[in-house]
Amino acid sequence: MPTKKRTRKKEKKSFTYYEITNGKLVRRLKKCPRCTSFMAHHKGENARYTCGKCAYTEYQTAPAIK
Ligand SMILES: [Zn+2]
Repeated sequence: MPTKKRTRKKEKKSFTYYEITNGKLVRRLKKCPRCTSFMAHHKGENARYTCGKCAYTEYQTAPAIK
């Protein structure tokens, strides 16, 4: 008797698009000005948005000039 492998449905995490800050619903993601797809938000020293499609990168805060 052959065993059927069940493929799990991959569930997309829903944290991506919205974030609740101080009781307000804030859209986190920007749309890429080039290809209008959603951009990924990278946190860290240089917070930035990166487009996964066309690799467009936009810095959220201007990098400090030293
Ligand atoms: Zn893009």
